[in-house]
Amino acid sequence: MDKIKEVLDSSKLIVITTHKSPDGDAIGSSLALYHFLKKKGKEVSVIVPDSFPSFLNWMVETENIIHYDTQTEAADNIIEKADVIFSLDYNSLTRIAGLRNPIEKSNATKIVIDHHQDPQEFADHYFVDTDSCSTCQLIYEFIENLGELDKLDKVIGECIYCGVMTDTGSFRYPSTTSKTHQIIANLLDLGVENSKIHQEVYDNSSEHRLRLLGYALTEKMVVLTNHNAAYISLSQEELKRFSFKKGDTEGLVNYALSIAGIKFAALITEKEDMISLSLRSKDDFYVNKIANEHFSGGGHIYASGGMLETTLEEAISRVEAVMKSNG
Ligand code: 5GP
Ligand code: MN
Repeated sequence: MDKIKEVLDSSKLIVITTHKSPDGDAIGSSLALYHFLKKKGKEVSVIVPDSFPSFLNWMVETENIIHYDTQTEAADNIIEKADVIFSLDYNSLTRIAGLRNPIEKSNATKIVIDHHQDPQEFADHYFVDTDSCSTCQLIYEFIENLGELDKLDKVIGECIYCGVMTDTGSFRYPSTTSKTHQIIANLLDLGVENSKIHQEVYDNSSEHRLRLLGYALTEKMVVLTNHNAAYISLSQEELKRFSFKKGDTEGLVNYALSIAGIKFAALITEKEDMISLSLRSKDDFYVNKIANEHFSGGGHIYASGGMLETTLEEAISRVEAVMKSNG
């Protein structure tokens, strides 16, 4: 922290980055740090690899986030001038798509704040806790370690609350600790409206999204009872039929995991140029190993992801085979 403090004190232009397909923790942590550093008088930009779900748009200044895939030139110019680059909620340059190129080239001091397993070596400083529930909790602790909790306010608190809430499944996963609840209590004391944030994120579905959920659970969920596993697959055609928007399948895999006796669940989604996998597990079944060994991915012990460059049919049979040989 002493070194990071020195770096921050002597820096003017700071860039904050996060992983592709940003989620509540990615956007929450990025904007929380953004608002904090702006309060310290820094010039700050948040640059994300691609777009994020509209149910995160309520956070203050989401409209000022730069999207690398559509604003490449502007982003490259800012990154080139940056003194410090933060990498939030990811620990490998493979997680940031095209944003990897300018970051690899940059001579800025690089600081990782993250809670994923197996951090890769690409940065100068690491503020990492793989047991932490969320990068947002780490942002709170980062500010705490800087001795600047007095700079927290409602806007920063809302962003931190969002990431802790989404990454803990609303405070229910085992990663939720008494420290997590203490931090949340402090955020409520700043005026953060917990109930409003739950509504913004979870009660903001389109009718299409709900009907896609119904269809997926009724028609597309395969339960391998003997192997304690279940999966759902969705093709491009099916997603288009339900007017799919980014974020519409978020949380879907958890329904498969909520069946009694199921310890391993997967959502297999056909994207435009590859197949993406969303994996979840519970109890003594650790899904990050599976993601790493079979699907060139990774993540947390109970929540991981990966991808396959095959057809949807081939991906389904690969997932079934892995489920049958592991459960
Ligand atoms: P989700 O299923 O919500 O997309 O992702 C769950 C977790 O797995 C997240 O923590 C995410 O960072 C991680 N993850 C998702 N996709 C990938 C991937 O392709 N590679 C790695 N290493 N991690 C992933
Ligand atoms: Mn996270």
